[in-house]
Amino acid sequence: MQKKESKKAKKVEETPIVDDAKVREENLRNLLLEKRREILKEAMEEIKRFQSDENKQLVETVLDDGDLSVVDLSEDISLKQLSSHRENLLKIDTALQKLKEGTYGICEDCGEEISEKRLEVMPFAIYCRDCQEKQELMSKLEQIVEQ
Ligand SMILES: [Zn+2]
Repeated sequence: MQKKESKKAKKVEETPIVDDAKVREENLRNLLLEKRREILKEAMEEIKRFQSDENKQLVETVLDDGDLSVVDLSEDISLKQLSSHRENLLKIDTALQKLKEGTYGICEDCGEEISEKRLEVMPFAIYCRDCQEKQELMSKLEQIVEQ
């Protein structure tokens, strides 16, 4: 053991710091990014299938930028169905943002922590189970009212 102090200071980046929160955050970020890539890939493949002369320009835009927001502008029903992919992408982006801000895993409605189990299944959940159910019930009610 020689000059342990100075060596330690230099090697601080390589030293494995056992910090559960950090490890968890990193794992979550990787999981979310992977999910993001998956969805994007899936969406891209669907878009290619829907490509026609009329929407060629639109499809090219999406494929170039990975920006699915133009899908909403499309008159094409098949393309509009891709909106669900877009919603999921937005959810993932929100989760990534929350992770950065340190508010990840906290229910947007009641402010309680979302259970670990739930986040494992739905890493981009922004509501706890109770609030999610409440939200779904509310939107169902809204649909009924609108009809
Ligand atoms: Zn809640």
